[in-house]
Amino acid sequence: MTNYDFDIGVIGGGAAGLTVTSGSAQLGAKTLLVEKESVLGGDCLHYGCVPSKTLIKSAHVYHMMKHAEKYGLPRVDAPPVDFKQVARRIQAVIATIQKHDSKERFCRLGAHVAFGTPAFVDAHAIGLNGATYSAKNWVIATGSSPVAPPIDGLDRISYITNKEIFSLDHLPKSMIILGAGPIGCEMGQAFNRLGTQVQIVDRANQILGKEDKDLADEVQLSMQSDGVEFHLEVSVEKVNDLGTGEKEVLVKEKNGQEISLKAETILVAMGRRPNTEGLNLDHIGVDVGPRGIKVDNRLRTTQKHIYAAGDVGGGFQFTHAAGYEGGIVISNAIFHLPRKADYTYLPWCTFTDPPLGSIGMNEKMAKSAGIDYQVWTENFKDNDRSLAEGEETGWIKMILDDKEKPIGVQILGPGAGDLLGEWVAVLNGKVKLSTLAAAIHPYPTIGEINKKVAGTYFSPKIFSDRIKKGLKFFFHLKGRACGLDECES
Ligand SMILES: Cc1cc2nc3c(=O)[nH]c(=O)nc-3n(C[C@H](O)[C@H](O)[C@H](O)COP(=O)(O)OP(=O)(O)OC[C@H]3O[C@@H](n4cnc5c(N)ncnc54)[C@H](O)[C@@H]3O)c2cc1C
Repeated sequence: MTNYDFDIGVIGGGAAGLTVTSGSAQLGAKTLLVEKESVLGGDCLHYGCVPSKTLIKSAHVYHMMKHAEKYGLPRVDAPPVDFKQVARRIQAVIATIQKHDSKERFCRLGAHVAFGTPAFVDAHAIGLNGATYSAKNWVIATGSSPVAPPIDGLDRISYITNKEIFSLDHLPKSMIILGAGPIGCEMGQAFNRLGTQVQIVDRANQILGKEDKDLADEVQLSMQSDGVEFHLEVSVEKVNDLGTGEKEVLVKEKNGQEISLKAETILVAMGRRPNTEGLNLDHIGVDVGPRGIKVDNRLRTTQKHIYAAGDVGGGFQFTHAAGYEGGIVISNAIFHLPRKADYTYLPWCTFTDPPLGSIGMNEKMAKSAGIDYQVWTENFKDNDRSLAEGEETGWIKMILDDKEKPIGVQILGPGAGDLLGEWVAVLNGKVKLSTLAAAIHPYPTIGEINKKVAGTYFSPKIFSDRIKKGLKFFFHLKGRACGLDECES
């Protein structure tokens, strides 16, 4: 048997790589972790989830200050935002979380952590900082980077991406965002609320393209009511630096008309590309497709002892997906259990206000899968706690298949991401809808909406004429105590 230096080598210290490293090391596998930056944590901690959600909170508080009167409070004339202070708070939150992702922590767990840029020298070994490290199994978890789309002029102007946006030295007066996906919408709303004039551009006919249009349109309306401007169904033709402190984006509408949009800053949020350059993957027979490294359902690449997990695989690009995939790799590579990845109930949430969360199938997916489905809804304006909170926009959609089994849920409303938690348990645990509808939920909570939507499915069955007739027949119930005509007076 070949004697490798390590049982498993992990390349990339983000959500996927850290999950594999921590699990493998604690299980007694001799583990190497290689990270090209000088700190661990990856995109989520430094340029993604953590800074974006911290920024969104600051923007939300500022928005609440400006809308104090809505809550019966005195009007507040909020002074302008000093973005340096917001950026300082973002860095402080990152620094606190960074401690959980320190080199020392993973070392204590038993892993060897090395910093530098590795390249495979053969299918079992990498070269790093002049040394060679071999491992029986490898995991590529190098994440993704923002795509620089081939737009005329983009390479000649300065623009920002998620890498720069959280450390700007001032709040831009105006911003054009290329891309109305989750990053574009979350950042667009947050910056708009902080005081930036925001325009969002996309070629699609709706924002948040993966979502059902009715829900995405409602998010758009909400953002428009804050002041965000949208230019949908347009193609970006050209960008220029006007040399006056402003940049220009020329877009062409469906009808062929060209419009010139101008702003101080351009944020590019038009998708992600896998980080595979420099790894020498073609040399060792690991195939890379247009979206990412090709893997089978056990996350093995075209070299079966090399796995890929997280954004680099080009699948669901979320931190919790990366963590889940890290667990799949541990099962296969360390326990030697042939566990397959299953994304049927992978939830996600876009943290706009209101946020939009989803698990399982939405209408779009059910339609394209040819599933005969029913939709049951419940509005947040009918939830007592939502009214008390002043958060009455949105609704929950429960999708049932032709056997009346829940196959998906979408929530547009306050705390959507957290509300999905109950559906994670219901769908994965195959909990009966009747159990959810009958379970006591605390009052007054927004979470009651989950029970309520399950209940709406049963109400027409329970309060049907057949049941009423049966009860009348067996128990001699006397029927209505108030005539319908009397109810009007
Ligand atoms: C603005 C923004 C907001 C987001 N918000 C959310 C959210 O709210 N919820 C959510 O679930 N997801 C969110 N995401 C997505 C989430 O950040 C990613 O899905 C997640 O970070 C993927 O984890 P990963 O381990 O695959 O990659 P990463 O976390 O990016 O880690 C990859 C690591 O590999 C390193 N690396 C790269 N190349 C090499 C190399 N050649 N050698 C060694 N190391 C290398 C990188 O430096 C990095 O540390 C957001 C992303 C962005 C950009």
